[in-house]
Amino acid sequence: MVDEKQLEQESKELIRKYRKLLRHAKPFLKDNDAKLIRKAFNLSMEAHEGMRRKSGEPYIYHPLEVAQICVAEIGLGTTSIIAALLHDVVEDTDYEVEDIEREFGKKVASIIDGLTKISGVGSNTDSGQAENFRKMLLTLSQDVRVILVKLADRLHNMRTLDSMPRHKQLKIASETIFLYAPLAHRLGLYAIKSEMEDLHLKYTHFEIYQSIVDNIKVTKDVRDRFIRRFIRPIQQELANQNFKFTIKGRVKSIHSIWEKMRKQDIPVEQVFDLFAIRIIVDVPLEQEKAVCWQVYSIVTDFYKPNPDRLRDWVSTPKANGYESLHTTVMSRTGKWVEVQIRTKRMDDIAEKGYAAHWKYKDNSNNKPSGLETWIAQVRELLEENSSNAIEFVDEFKSNLYQDEVFVFTPKGDLRTLQNGATTLDFAFDIHTQIGLKCLGAKVNQRLVPLNYVLQNGDQVEIITSSKQKPSEDWLRFVVTSKARSGIKHGLKDEFKQIAEEGKEIVLRKLKQLKIDHQTGTFTELAKFFGLSQVNDFLYRVGKGIIEPKEIKKFKDASLVKKIAPTHKEWTDAKQVSKLITKETGRQDSILFLGQDLDLVDYKFAACCSPIPGDDVFGFVTINEGIKIHRTTCPNSAELLSKHGHRVIKAKWASEKKESFEAGLEIIGTDRVGLISDVTKIISNEHKVNMKSITVDTDTGIFEGKIFLYIKNKQHLNELAKKLENVEGVVKVNRIKDK
Ligand code: MN
Repeated sequence: MVDEKQLEQESKELIRKYRKLLRHAKPFLKDNDAKLIRKAFNLSMEAHEGMRRKSGEPYIYHPLEVAQICVAEIGLGTTSIIAALLHDVVEDTDYEVEDIEREFGKKVASIIDGLTKISGVGSNTDSGQAENFRKMLLTLSQDVRVILVKLADRLHNMRTLDSMPRHKQLKIASETIFLYAPLAHRLGLYAIKSEMEDLHLKYTHFEIYQSIVDNIKVTKDVRDRFIRRFIRPIQQELANQNFKFTIKGRVKSIHSIWEKMRKQDIPVEQVFDLFAIRIIVDVPLEQEKAVCWQVYSIVTDFYKPNPDRLRDWVSTPKANGYESLHTTVMSRTGKWVEVQIRTKRMDDIAEKGYAAHWKYKDNSNNKPSGLETWIAQVRELLEENSSNAIEFVDEFKSNLYQDEVFVFTPKGDLRTLQNGATTLDFAFDIHTQIGLKCLGAKVNQRLVPLNYVLQNGDQVEIITSSKQKPSEDWLRFVVTSKARSGIKHGLKDEFKQIAEEGKEIVLRKLKQLKIDHQTGTFTELAKFFGLSQVNDFLYRVGKGIIEPKEIKKFKDASLVKKIAPTHKEWTDAKQVSKLITKETGRQDSILFLGQDLDLVDYKFAACCSPIPGDDVFGFVTINEGIKIHRTTCPNSAELLSKHGHRVIKAKWASEKKESFEAGLEIIGTDRVGLISDVTKIISNEHKVNMKSITVDTDTGIFEGKIFLYIKNKQHLNELAKKLENVEGVVKVNRIKDK
């Protein structure tokens, strides 16, 4: 039970926390902001009255701390403070969003609504988590503050994870490292990202975490002495030149030290760059760049820089808004030391990210910042991607920790893309339609393919063609989620369009075959061709994979069903003759091999294996349908004499064994198994004999020349069409001089 004394202490603590919040918020409070915050605090206190957290603390501490993080660590204002104070009210108490709206207006209510929706779904499954995350990002398009408050909420939960049961600790910690830390990073909240990562390490690898913490502590004195000595000459020179500055040595995050240990496979004692020197100068906006380089010049006057380790995010900020000048210099004791040079404004943005960015936003400059561009991209991605939540999160995540490459448009505009981006990514970055029609590009006046990986400073001019169509292959070499979702979208449209064309072909063919088109006909057709989706069937027809004439088989199959449920029940050759007469109008009762296969199913007898040109007859077996035998077959005498009523006359539809030589040239992108796929179609599916095949694979391009014995031109065209559908094949041409 909670006794009097404890309650008294708790209410003192509560007042202390509340005053601290107001003290931090004070500099930007306007009009009756303080009153509103008070009102939100009172409402939250009342709503959570008597509730306690797992730790035993009064629940109200939590929203207060979350509000505190919003103000002090993210730099948010009154609306967010109110939202933070009320963030668990709708979810955990009897209050409704409408109550919040009545008291605090639409803005606050919609943020609370967003926050409540994020945590509303039961989410123990992967897809539940992913769906949650997707919802969270959806709110981004309404108000980014939802995510910022959510991050503050998550950070406080991580800070107070101790009192949670072990399985919850692991769940919350892994969610945090999986989604929230990358998101914080992307929004430029460096300090929060680092703390989340450190806490994750603490709860998943406690011993490693502790050993790093201990090591940092043990080495502190030595390190401090080193830093003092290192910065002394710089300090003096900066003071001589009348700079307003602060300079400090900062230990890197525990998580990043751990990363180094893992990457280099070394114990913590051997991680040398445990810290970085940070020089922060206070200068007006217009002098920032010049001053940063001035400071760089002073530093490198004393210490020799490593030319490979210069990072200039002052001239070109990172997409998440980060600006700083990083260099690594050699100290006098022979140790590399990282020095970060930035202005006070840059430092503020680096620590607080998004919100600070807004505070400093230069209104005269209408260009969107990297962050705005990013948020716009997320929005687009969400609008386009309605499919699979997990897929979406994967794509989104791949965009979170990105290194960047800077390239230029033909007009000299700078565009920032994810490292590894190709010309096709660039095309999609400009516009989805340009991406879908992209044929290639000129990079620095030189022609390059779609999969050319962009280098810093490239000037890129996209070449489009109205004939170009997206291909599955493209997904292999794009890295940006915008391009990925654009291609997938394009493929879907393409699929739809082809299916639409297929539908017209099928309808025409049905009419020609005099088959009534009723509801269910398409489904039956799809089923007949072994497909569960009607659209897949229509697509295949549109694409030529299923040819219209094959639809006749469907008709025959349904007719056969009507006449005799299965071939196997045929007992008499007359039944077959009747069917032939009925279907073809022929009175001859002859089964034409090759031609009537569509109509009547037959097999070649294994005992004599007839080939075209042989004299043959058909025999209606009891269990295995019609078998074709050669008249010279050892069994024929018995069959013909004893079972005459089961014998049906049969002839080869065309006895002329004409075949002529033709050549095909196949061009494609080289991949393992391409040749085998091509030859499989030629010899297995189309039963065509090959005379010769030569293949040249140079620089990833496949060039094959195949000479075949082909029946006729149509046969060759059909084969070429099939081959063009083989994955990787770009073009199939008839070799003319053959
Ligand atoms: Mn909460």
